[in-house]
Amino acid sequence: MQNVVIIGSGCAGNTAAIYTARANLKPLVISGHEAGGQLSLTTLVENFPGFPEGINGPDLVENMKKQAQNFGAEFIHGSVIDTDLSQRPFRLNVEGDWIETRTLIVASGASARWLGLPNEQKLIGHGVSSCATCDGFFYRGRKIMVIGGGDSAMEEANFLSRFGSEVTLVHRREEFRASKIMLDRARANAKIKFLLNTVVDDVHDASKTLVTAVTLRNLKTGERWEQDVDGFFVAIGHIPNTRIFKGQIETDPDGYIISKGGARTNIRGVFHAGDVQDRTYRQAITASGAGCMAAIEAERFLEAEGH
Ligand code: NAP
Repeated sequence: MQNVVIIGSGCAGNTAAIYTARANLKPLVISGHEAGGQLSLTTLVENFPGFPEGINGPDLVENMKKQAQNFGAEFIHGSVIDTDLSQRPFRLNVEGDWIETRTLIVASGASARWLGLPNEQKLIGHGVSSCATCDGFFYRGRKIMVIGGGDSAMEEANFLSRFGSEVTLVHRREEFRASKIMLDRARANAKIKFLLNTVVDDVHDASKTLVTAVTLRNLKTGERWEQDVDGFFVAIGHIPNTRIFKGQIETDPDGYIISKGGARTNIRGVFHAGDVQDRTYRQAITASGAGCMAAIEAERFLEAEGH
């Protein structure tokens, strides 16, 4: 029987592990299918406080893991494939083995939605990004492309226009999902050029491990062409990893956990941390902060129950 199980090993999960381990609760972290979370997909992180020269995303998250292990946190590979949160202890199926826990911290994150282009995954971290805040700075004076027609795409295009020599926003339709105010702001920005009714067929050049160009296609005319690009930002939404809790932990229609205040979910003893609940900030530092909150709540919950 575990005191605390943490699902997810990104900033939120690892920070929750540091805090609960230091509280002597011997947390068990289930790393999940994207171990290290979204930081493991980035390169240099320059906005996490405490690193004046910046730090590589994978190093940052690995350091957090080591820090938690130093205090006795245990990490296991694998994913949770089924859960029973209807009674305590909670039961989790980790790839065939059931484990039991008194409290659960859900830090399973949200995965960026990708376009599924042939070379997209090979170029993540080398010009392909899902996070303007993380990577925009590297494209000072360069050609940037943003894909999407929602608020995220508008926000990223506006943000990236501070850095890029030009920003091309590519959207597959003429109508936008973005709110009027965000769209108007992007339209008023002289650096942003709109390319509508257009899709990306592929991003190049995987052989150089660097983004150099994209192949575009106009859906109305069928015209296909190549355009030079240095930074390729995909902003077509995120998918919170909550499928395994369906019908148990309360979520909004998009699958994000609904917070009941602090780090509490609708189930007593189950806490949330990071992007699985946060659709607004989605930063490493806010996820770490949320992991800390969840850990403190789990600790107090166990204490109140006499464990
Ligand atoms: P979203 O609203 O779901 O928009 C996703 C966009 O990506 C849509 O325009 C969609 O096109 C496009 N898209 C999806 N799959 C695609 C594909 N395979 N190929 C090409 N295009 C594709 O997602 P979001 O922009 O991330 O926003 C999510 C939520 O967060 C929204 O509620 C939004 O208001 C909120 N948000 C708010 C702010 C803010 O207020 N500051 C900032 C960011 C996000 P279609 O329209 O054709 O489907």
